[in-house]
Amino acid sequence: MKAVAQATGRQLDKIKADAQEKGDLGLVAESSRSNQRIMFQPASLTAGGVFRKLKEIGSMSGNSAMNKKIDIIKGLFVACRFSEARYIVRSLAGKLRIGLAEQSVLSALSQAVCLTPPGQGFPPAVIDAGKGMSAESRRAWIESKSLILKQTYCEMPNYDILIPVLLKEGIDELPNHCKLTPGVPLRPMLAHPTKGVGEVMKRFDEAAFTCEYKYDGERAQIHILENGEVRVFSRNQEDNTTKYPDIISRIPKVKKDSVVSCVLDAEAVAWDREKKQIQPFQVLTTRKRKDVDASEIKVQVCVYAFDLLYLNGESLVRQPLGRRRALLRESFSEVEGEFVFARYIDSDNTDSIAEFLEQSVRDSCEGLMVKTLEKDATYEIAKRSHNWLKLKKDYLDGVGDTMDLCVIGAYLGKGKRAGAYGGFLLACYDEENEEFQSVCKIGTGFKDEDLEQHFNFLKEHILPKPRPYYRVDQSAEPEVWLDAMQVWEVKCADLSLSPVYKAAMGMVDPVKGISLRFPRFLRIRDDKKPEDATTGAQIADLYKKQQQIQNQGEKGDLEDYY
Ligand code: AMP
Repeated sequence: MKAVAQATGRQLDKIKADAQEKGDLGLVAESSRSNQRIMFQPASLTAGGVFRKLKEIGSMSGNSAMNKKIDIIKGLFVACRFSEARYIVRSLAGKLRIGLAEQSVLSALSQAVCLTPPGQGFPPAVIDAGKGMSAESRRAWIESKSLILKQTYCEMPNYDILIPVLLKEGIDELPNHCKLTPGVPLRPMLAHPTKGVGEVMKRFDEAAFTCEYKYDGERAQIHILENGEVRVFSRNQEDNTTKYPDIISRIPKVKKDSVVSCVLDAEAVAWDREKKQIQPFQVLTTRKRKDVDASEIKVQVCVYAFDLLYLNGESLVRQPLGRRRALLRESFSEVEGEFVFARYIDSDNTDSIAEFLEQSVRDSCEGLMVKTLEKDATYEIAKRSHNWLKLKKDYLDGVGDTMDLCVIGAYLGKGKRAGAYGGFLLACYDEENEEFQSVCKIGTGFKDEDLEQHFNFLKEHILPKPRPYYRVDQSAEPEVWLDAMQVWEVKCADLSLSPVYKAAMGMVDPVKGISLRFPRFLRIRDDKKPEDATTGAQIADLYKKQQQIQNQGEKGDLEDYY
């Protein structure tokens, strides 16, 4: 923005405001240019010349780098004609927005080398090697070759290296010449969003999976080179080595002697050393981005390692996560606050996953990453699998509806909550059968004073045994039965079918009831009697509405994976 302002003589504030409004600094640059009057038109830009300037900008560092960069940009800018300013500014911002994604470039390249195999001289003798094939087998053939290029590109995302090999050796030979190499950042595996535990279970169906904490920091791909050098790369393959001298210096301490070279996938997270806890992502962003001096670091980071992609000369990307994780744990040791393995549980129990998600949020994480362990569990992102799903805490904010539920039981508190109740059993009221049907256990959303207030009130209403009109499964019986006296307003993330809870039983499923997932206490509803609580029929309706919305959302979900 500064460069555009300086080159056009417009005020920085104006440029900022325009960019905000148009959402594209490229367009702003282009339209700002047209106001310009210059005496001598500089020589036209050439692709080679612009590329050299971009590389020059990329390699600048140090004190006055910013001004030098601005000078180069200004130089390019005054030579721009037509819409060149738009594309130069967009190139600098890293987004050309020409409707051509990288995947299409890769497909086009592989199609070209398949149909016109290289090494034939000019003009080529074969210009359609797929001639004579049926349309279908031709497409399958090109696609299989394209996968070779895409996969190799993920491991070695550098056209300068790939294209000469493609031209000399052909596409089949590509993986033998361009391999994952410590020192060259590879494309990271990304995650696919999900709407909740239910969707995770459906997608992974029978496959074994693991749930890891999703730490809220910055992706750090840590490379240990054979010569002992350590480098850190960002999610976009930028070199972050000089940003993290502290990470670099602790690597020799945490790696076992058996490790000669490797590539780790990890998250660098801001860490409070005194309180020994994770700090929000915003704290991390206050750290200097380049040429950090270890002695001046104010924001400490802890590395949470979650994957190992290369070890001692061998690529592990075709190994399943279960194996990669075992190797990761064998190859490194943990040091609190410095280098720790991502916390995980291997469970397919919805309630345990739900609990782990809540725990992750309490531990200052963003939610969970759910990953397949064995089947479809390689690190081959070109295959477009959905083997990493993210379950974010936004999901806990729920669908918006609140429910008014009656307290019918309690569980004794542990740890900090000892001496009072730590959790409660809630029920809805079923008008048809005139009964209270259990709907969930709740232990979240309470302040300390809430818990004290509830204990003092509820302990006066203990029952020796449940009322005959309580419908509760044996497996969910509370430690203390309570008389239905009080109604609470509760918010939840979503509703799910449950073999344990009894709400709306028979209305949606013949044998299962409905339960609330991630219920949180909002307040006491003194104005409502127990019989005014949300009814089973209302809960059944909410559940059906939610299913409809989920089914509609499913298709759109598959887009935007990369
Ligand atoms: P998102 O950026 O929301 O799509 O989430 C994906 C990002 O979460 C990754 O790029 C990592 O930087 C980060 N992350 C945090 N914890 C993990 C984990 N256990 N596994 C994979 N990625 C993680």
